[in-house]
Amino acid sequence: MTKLDNASLAARDLAVLWHPCTQMKDHETLPMIPIRRGEGIWLEDFDGNRYLDAISSWWVNLFGHANPRITAAVRDQVEQLEHVLLAGFTHEPAVQLAERLVGLAPPGLDRVFYADNGSSAVEVALKMSYHAWRNLGRPQKTRFVTLANSYHGETLGALAVGNVALYKETYRPLLMEVITAPSPDCFHREPGEDWEGYSRRRFADLERILAEQADQICAVIVEPLVQCAGSMRMYHPVYLQLLREACDRHGVHLIADEIAVGFGRTGTLFACEQAGVSPDFLCLSKGLTGGYLPLSAVLTHASIYAAFYDDYQRLTAFLHSHSYTGNPLACRAALATLDIFESDQVIAANRRFAAVMAEAAAPLADHPHVAEVRQTGMILAIELVRDRVRREPYPWQERRGLAVYRAALARGALLRPLGSVIYFMPPYVITPEELRWLARVAAECIDLATAG
Ligand code: PMP
Repeated sequence: MTKLDNASLAARDLAVLWHPCTQMKDHETLPMIPIRRGEGIWLEDFDGNRYLDAISSWWVNLFGHANPRITAAVRDQVEQLEHVLLAGFTHEPAVQLAERLVGLAPPGLDRVFYADNGSSAVEVALKMSYHAWRNLGRPQKTRFVTLANSYHGETLGALAVGNVALYKETYRPLLMEVITAPSPDCFHREPGEDWEGYSRRRFADLERILAEQADQICAVIVEPLVQCAGSMRMYHPVYLQLLREACDRHGVHLIADEIAVGFGRTGTLFACEQAGVSPDFLCLSKGLTGGYLPLSAVLTHASIYAAFYDDYQRLTAFLHSHSYTGNPLACRAALATLDIFESDQVIAANRRFAAVMAEAAAPLADHPHVAEVRQTGMILAIELVRDRVRREPYPWQERRGLAVYRAALARGALLRPLGSVIYFMPPYVITPEELRWLARVAAECIDLATAG
């Protein structure tokens, strides 16, 4: 048998695979890294190199790779029931998980609809919102409001309500038209203006849209507190409070896409808690299974559910379905993940890690090519710019972030950037020493990538 090493597996990969979010030609110069095993925050390749997974493998991993507790739960489940359709049938993990999510979510969200990835959860929420209005005799409500710089996934509906040009522009002719309000993203606040003031000011635009067009609008969709794929841009919870209040006043649903920010990323279990609001639809995925298996859930409240509940002949049912809806293995991984949150008092521990992360990254704020170091809970972002005073961005063609990525890999850290934004979004089992090491590596690599 031929021995597996990085080079041989990478060559076989590049002969047959097409990777997500990748210009495959980049791999003519950028090595593909085959991972042999994971343990905690570390990934190990076939040549024995280790990488600290500083971005939780696209924000899914919460408690480390090959976590013994989650592994044991999935192993136990696979010996009993790997999958069964969820129409007409049910299973204990799906029921238990729904009960627990209802118990943990903001008040009033007491119905759970499962799907199997984040984009699908967004599709479900959009369709459910429109369909609920239709069932309630308001079929003219067909439009969605989204925020500039938002991201909600890559399927056509999710892409339509997103606003990151890099992903959206090419497909625009295929997408439904949405109403786009300016983002409350506080990177754009005036000198001396605080986050709250800026977020409040930005809300005026959304208020105007609702006042003028609520008759046609089903819902406003937002990523609470952090626009993650949109360069980890952040805003103040007051925006969510104002939004909730305005949605109620104008009779419009609020969809909170907590796919990236849910499960402790922003410092509370759900970001909406920081504004004290309950959305009409809460989309969850990513960290839901601790990064083990694809699963998503859309939570909504009784009155939405009631709008669909009728005799079959009235054809009001929500017929949306995915084959792997509520997969038992994924539900068990999610239940084990929630057990860890409870038994290890994760939210409190994260507050301490977040403080260490802030302290470790603080020196970068003075770097001549850093416009801002910003943080919300366990998400810390470093915005690289050509000119710090004028906040002039690097031309995207220079791919400065990619240079940081390459340099960090050589030092044993996985710091995949978002354009010129480098960020830490580590699994919650990272130690203070590892956080400090990561910040030192990031600083070194930023120096290299911004020299010249
Ligand atoms: N919404 C948000 C806020 C996300 O960050 C993402 C994924 N990055 C999605 C939706 C889509 O999730 P998925 O990749 O599982 O389709």
